[in-house]
Amino acid sequence: MASHIVGYPRMGPKRELKFALESFWDGKSTAEDLEKVATDLRASIWKQMADAGIKYIPSNTFSYYDQVLDTTAMLGAVPERYSWTGGEIGFDTYFSMARGNATVPAMEMTKWFDTNYHFIVPELGPNTKFSYSSHKAVNEYKEAKALGVDTVPVFIGPVSYLLLSKPAKGVEKGFPLLSLLSSILPVYKEVIAELKAAGASWIQFDEPTLALDLDAHKLAAFSAAYTELESALSGLNVLVETYFADVPAESFKTLTSLSSVTAYGFDLVRGTQTVELIKSGFPAGKYLFAGVVDGRNIWADDLAASLSTLQALEAVVGKDKLVVSTSCSLMHTAVDLVNETKLDSEIKSWLAFAAQKVVEVDALAKALAGQKDEAYFAANAAAQASRRSSPRVTNEEVQKAAAALKGSDHRRATNVSARLDAQQKKLNLPVLPTTTIGSFPQTVELRRVRREYKAKKISEEEYVSAIKEEISKVVKLQEELDIDVLVHGEPERNDMVEYFGEQLSGFAFTANGWVQSYGSRCVKPPIIYGDVSRPNPMTVFWSKTAQSMTSRPMKGMLTGPVTILNWSFVRNDQPRSTCYQIALAIKKEVEDLEAAGIQVIQIDEAALREGLPLRKAEHAFYLDWAVHSFRITNCEIKDTTQIHTHMCYSNFNDIIHSIINMDADVITIENSRSDEKLLSVFREGVKYGAGIGPGVYDIHSPRIPSTEEIADRINKMLAVLDTNILWVNPDCGLKTRKYTEVKPALTNMVSAAKLIRTQL
Ligand code: GLN
Ligand code: ZN
Repeated sequence: MASHIVGYPRMGPKRELKFALESFWDGKSTAEDLEKVATDLRASIWKQMADAGIKYIPSNTFSYYDQVLDTTAMLGAVPERYSWTGGEIGFDTYFSMARGNATVPAMEMTKWFDTNYHFIVPELGPNTKFSYSSHKAVNEYKEAKALGVDTVPVFIGPVSYLLLSKPAKGVEKGFPLLSLLSSILPVYKEVIAELKAAGASWIQFDEPTLALDLDAHKLAAFSAAYTELESALSGLNVLVETYFADVPAESFKTLTSLSSVTAYGFDLVRGTQTVELIKSGFPAGKYLFAGVVDGRNIWADDLAASLSTLQALEAVVGKDKLVVSTSCSLMHTAVDLVNETKLDSEIKSWLAFAAQKVVEVDALAKALAGQKDEAYFAANAAAQASRRSSPRVTNEEVQKAAAALKGSDHRRATNVSARLDAQQKKLNLPVLPTTTIGSFPQTVELRRVRREYKAKKISEEEYVSAIKEEISKVVKLQEELDIDVLVHGEPERNDMVEYFGEQLSGFAFTANGWVQSYGSRCVKPPIIYGDVSRPNPMTVFWSKTAQSMTSRPMKGMLTGPVTILNWSFVRNDQPRSTCYQIALAIKKEVEDLEAAGIQVIQIDEAALREGLPLRKAEHAFYLDWAVHSFRITNCEIKDTTQIHTHMCYSNFNDIIHSIINMDADVITIENSRSDEKLLSVFREGVKYGAGIGPGVYDIHSPRIPSTEEIADRINKMLAVLDTNILWVNPDCGLKTRKYTEVKPALTNMVSAAKLIRTQL
C-alpha cells in the first residue's frame, strides 16, 4: 500500500527561507548563500519524507517565490518590460517579475483559490514567445536522486496555468488564453523528455481549476492537452492532482476518461461528494490518490475515520491501486509541531502540522497493508476522544446562545436613512466628513513597548502609560489636522485578529505556526479550538481613554466575526458555526462600547470576501451567513450609535447586494488602486443609501498624494454618489506607513475635503 504527499511547505520550520530571501534582497548575502539555504531545506524535506516511509515524494514543490511564477519561468513567458534577453532565467529576472525592480513594477499577485496564499499572475498574449527557460524541475529531480530519493516532479498543469493567467497589457481583455495551449505544450514536452532521460517514472500535474465551475469549452481543453501530451508521456505514470473542492460530476467524467493519465488525486476533505463520484465510476486499472489527510488545517487526522473511508475506496479501485495522500499541498498548513514548546500538552495532542501529517499518511498506508501501528492508532484515538469531550472545547451556554440565532434574522429595527438622521443630530458632522481607518504608524519604540510588556519586562503601569501617551499624540495630531471622526490609532494591537483572539476564550497561539502568504511573507493564524466567548471587555478601556482626550467623536475599533474566523485555523467539527459565537462575543463588546459613551463603532470585515466558496452555487449561502454574522454584532444598539465597517478590496461589485445587506451606517473601502472600478457599480444604478467612503489614496505606497489629486478623486465620486453619504478617508489603516508620509498625506486629504465643501 503506497503513500504520497501532494506538496510540502518551503519556508522551513523556522522560516529559514524567508530570512535567506530577505537578506539576499537586501544585498546582505550572496546568491550562493541563498541557494545553500534552499538546498539544505529541500534535502531535509526529502529525507524526512523518505524516513517516514512515503513512497511518492514530490519534488519541484520548493519555490524561491511562487510555483506559478516558476512555471512562467519554465515557459520563458517573461513580460517584455523586464527586458529579458533569453537563456536560463536567473534570480535577477525572476525576482524582478515577483517584486519589481527600481524601474519596473512587479507582476500582479492574486489569491490562490480560496487560500490565503497569493500567486504571481502570468501575463500572456498572442505575441508571447514560449521557450524552455528554467530547468528547475529537472535539476530538483536530479538533486533528490543524488541524495537517494526518487521523487515525483510536480508541475502546474498546462490548462490550469492558462486558466490562471491574464491577457498581458495591450492585449484585448477577451483574448482566448486557452488558444496558447498548442504553444506551451512543446515546452512541457521538452521538460518531460528530460525527466524521462533523468530516470523519472512518475510525474504530477496539479490541475486545481478542475474544482471550479468550468464550461464545456474549458473542459475540452483538458482533453486536448492531455491527448496532445500522450506520446511524450508514454512510459511515465501520470498523476493529475485536484484539490480544494469536489471535481464537479461533468468534469470528473472528462478527467477520468483521459487515456494518457494513469492516476487521479482528489481532495476528500473539502470534496464531500467525491467518494460518491468514485463509487459511481472510477476507470479500471487506474490509481486513486485519496487525499484524506487535511492539508488546509492543523488538526490531527481522525485516523480511524480515514481508515474506514480508505477501506471503502479500496473495495472500489482495488488494493494495489489505492494511494493514501494529503488533501492538497501541505504548504497551507504550519510546518512542524516539534517547535511548539509553549503550547500545552493537551492542545498539542490534538494537532498535526505538515511534518506530523506526513507520518499520518504513512501510518494509514501501512494500516491498509495490514501493518497497523496499534500504539500509534490508539494514541490518536485517545487524542480524538479527549478533544471531543474536553470541557475546554465545549461551553454549553455558548453553544445554546449561538444555536438560538439560527433560523431567525437579526437586524436593527430602524432603516438606515432614519438612523443616519438620528446620528447626524448628535454628531453634527460637516458634509464630506473626514476619518481614517484605524491604525496609525507603528514605530519601533511602540513595538518594543508591547514586546517588553508581553515578556513581563515592564510593568502594567508602565505599559498603560506608554500606550496612553501614544494615543494622546495620535489624538492631538488628528485634531491639528482637523479630522472629523477620530481613531485611537491601535497602538496596543500587533494584529487585528490576534489582539482579539488573545482575549477571547477558545483560541490558542503558536510560536512557529507560520504559513506562506506570498513570497517571503508568512502569517501565523490563531487556532480556534473551543467554543468562543468573551470573558472581559477587550477594547473599552482604550476607547474610553481615547474619547476622554477629545470632544470629537472617537471611533471604537473592532474586528468582525467573519474576518476573525477567515484568518484563523478553524475547528473541523464546526468550521463555520463558530462564527455566530464570535459574533455574540463582538456583540457584547459593541454594547459595552455604546454604554461607555462611544458613539461611532467600526467593525472591520477585511476578509469577508476571502471566504467566498470556489463554486458559484455556494456563494449565496455563504454571503447570507457572513452578512448575518456581521449584523448580529450590532442588531440591538441605539439608532444614534453609528456603525462603520471597513473592507480592504475593491472587487466587490459582484457582492454589492450583500454589502448593502450588512446594513452598516457607513462603509469605508479600498478603492484608489483599482481606478475607481468600484464606482462603476454605482454608475450602473445601484442605490446606496448608507454612508460610504471609497479610499481617496493608496496607503500601500510611500507616495504622498496632492490636494488636487485627492480633490479630483472626490469629484469623481460625487458624480455617482450623493453628497450627503460620501465620506473622505484613506484606503486602509496607516500602520505600515511613516509619520513623515502620513502627516502630509492626511493634511492634503483634509484640504481636499474642505476645498470641495466650498464648491458644493
Ligand atoms: N482597523 C484596521 C487598521 O486600520 C483595519 C486593517 C485592515 O483593514 N486590514 O489597521
Ligand atoms: Zn483595510
